[in-house]
Amino acid sequence: MNPIRTLAAFCLMALAAPALAQDKGTVSPKQLPPLSNPDDPALPAKELFGRSTEPASLRARSIGSYARGCVAGAAAVPIDGATWQVMRLSRNRNWGHPDLVQLLQRLAGRVPQLNGWPGLLVGDISQPRGGPMITGHASHQVGLDADVWLTPMPDRRLSRLEREELSATDMVRSDLLDVDPSVWTPQHTALVKAAAKEPAVARIFVNAAIKKALCREAGADRNWLSKVRPMFGHNYHFHIRIACPSGDGACDDQAPPPGGDGCGSELAAWFTPQMLHPKPGKPRPPLTMAQLPAECRQVLRAP
Ligand SMILES: [Zn+2]
Repeated sequence: MNPIRTLAAFCLMALAAPALAQDKGTVSPKQLPPLSNPDDPALPAKELFGRSTEPASLRARSIGSYARGCVAGAAAVPIDGATWQVMRLSRNRNWGHPDLVQLLQRLAGRVPQLNGWPGLLVGDISQPRGGPMITGHASHQVGLDADVWLTPMPDRRLSRLEREELSATDMVRSDLLDVDPSVWTPQHTALVKAAAKEPAVARIFVNAAIKKALCREAGADRNWLSKVRPMFGHNYHFHIRIACPSGDGACDDQAPPPGGDGCGSELAAWFTPQMLHPKPGKPRPPLTMAQLPAECRQVLRAP
């Protein structure tokens, strides 16, 4: 089967889930009710991981693969830094492997010199113990994926309510064939390029229209473009994925992206009518604990 078509089916399932990055939250989120039978083997794992409000106090480890795993010893990106602010606090998804948390803070610190923005708006990373989520995202399970808004951090602290309700800006033109030149700027290119050049970064996901703009604007320095991969959605934010931390034996790395800048036929394949307006795929049954690495049970149970 055509790998891009397979990818399309896979991603649409992820997109079919509610609560994409653009969804608004509330400052007083409802607590999930306790589970009547948490040991039921048929119970979707997201129901368990979605109820963990604190990280597992174990050594930091990413366990499993980006779309099938969990994270122990996660750290949080503080909700406020000099050069970043975490959005949608009600989701409690500002948790990740400490390596990713450090990278995000370091990247955010470079932003004012890099492109003149005051800083970054940080979207979803992972739940406190990673794992599948009740809303949104097939990946983001092992604390190595982070969404960063393509909207600059404003020059002031946002209120809790603003962080739930503020909308990011859609960077893609309504015909989906290119970026919207009234909102896309060289500052965006500089930011994505800097993120892609971070040695720990394995992949960056952006909308195909954004990749097209990056290909056009990259000039002679093009090696970083191989890490920037087209993906459905990702028109309001970009997604930073780092590689498995070294020595993390239970973490499954993804094969490295193919070489080259990915700006030729591979990119063109994203602009066919089927790819621009894909038919929604059948929703896949939710993952159960038995489908996750066995160690994720310890991560759930740990204090
Ligand atoms: Zn993402």
